[in-house]
Amino acid sequence: MAASATIGEPVAPDGRFGPVRLLVIQPTPFCNLDCTYCYLPDRGNRSRIGFDVLEAALERVLESPWFDGGFTLLWHAGEPLTMPIAFYDEATARIDALLARRGLPGGTVVQSLQTNATTIDAAWCDCFARNNIHVGVSMDGPAFLHDAHRVTRTGLPTHAAVMRGIDWLQRRGIPFQVICVLTAESLHHAGAMAEFFLEHGIEDVGFNMEETEGANARSSLEADGPARLALEERYRAFLEVMWQCSRAHPERLRIREFEGVASLAGSGERLAHTDMNRPFVIVNVDAAGHTSTFDPELLSVATAEYGDFSFGHVGSDSLEAMAGTAKFQRVAAEIAAGVERCRSSCEYFGLCGGGAGSNKYWEHGSFDCSITQHCRYRIQLVADVVVDGMERELGLEAPAAGSGSGGAGRPAIWPAALDQDSAGC
Ligand code: SF4
Repeated sequence: MAASATIGEPVAPDGRFGPVRLLVIQPTPFCNLDCTYCYLPDRGNRSRIGFDVLEAALERVLESPWFDGGFTLLWHAGEPLTMPIAFYDEATARIDALLARRGLPGGTVVQSLQTNATTIDAAWCDCFARNNIHVGVSMDGPAFLHDAHRVTRTGLPTHAAVMRGIDWLQRRGIPFQVICVLTAESLHHAGAMAEFFLEHGIEDVGFNMEETEGANARSSLEADGPARLALEERYRAFLEVMWQCSRAHPERLRIREFEGVASLAGSGERLAHTDMNRPFVIVNVDAAGHTSTFDPELLSVATAEYGDFSFGHVGSDSLEAMAGTAKFQRVAAEIAAGVERCRSSCEYFGLCGGGAGSNKYWEHGSFDCSITQHCRYRIQLVADVVVDGMERELGLEAPAAGSGSGGAGRPAIWPAALDQDSAGC
């Protein structure tokens, strides 16, 4: 039974919590791989979630005032396919039974998982189809980039196994999105990356930057002074190649980063927050039942300053009770203060919504701050490339004197000049 609610003063940027859009559940902390940049400190832990914890997590969300009719349940924060197929059959049956008991339709909870794809085969494809589980694949593009970091526990490359898994998904017609981690080395190979995705029919791609976070003590993208500016310039050139390729092949290559900014820029809509910085839009539950909110990355890490970021346990605490704890109030107030700093100081705020607290913490040791290197990569440079690209397409950009491309005051960047590989588009 959940504890009674004790809500403190609202601390979200706009004074509101939720609604819950994403319930991240860790089926196991274990991962069969040992990627060099992984932030998860506990990936050798083979413990598994119990169905009592799963049901309690669902109950806590469904009974909360921040449930508004539907959300995605994402199996994540460990490799979900190290669990048996039978686990997902049983989990789906329990989710359906729980929804039926509450008189809710079956589509209330949409299941999704993020996998390294190394073990996907016919039986897993049957499981995804049978249980209507949406699939995201983590892989880093061509083998020479992927295998430099995504390796087994004995250091063996995994690209071939991932491509077999992707081949199974494609043969079965199961749609998937790839999340590709970019390192400093990847930024030299935009053309090879784009060609790889086009050649292999990988149509939906999101880029995550390698981050200094948790167990990954130093990202290859971390640098100061001129080295940092050079990396930013290289990333911008990388994005230019990707922009050109995605515009040249809109049916064959969609880049998550571009879609988000282009839709905001085109619609005139602006963000007031993100799912990562408004409390209880995302609820994160680990395999033992400890529960957090904000970024899923906060679920599995601990810091000297805050300890862990568990605000309660789904077996004993309602989400409202968690929102009343001193630890939650402190973290939420600092995250909200950081968002306010962003709102008052950053011209990209409307396209960003104030970023994610975990990035701010790992870079600055505090949630109460604004710009990070991560937001330079994830928001600002992406927005610059998208807006420049849209202006070029609309013929709005005035050419700078002596420059073949790029407007006045902007660096004259053109993909072919900066990419080591051919752009291929
Ligand atoms: S881009 Fe960075 S500084 Fe600007 S609003 Fe986003 S997180 Fe804040």
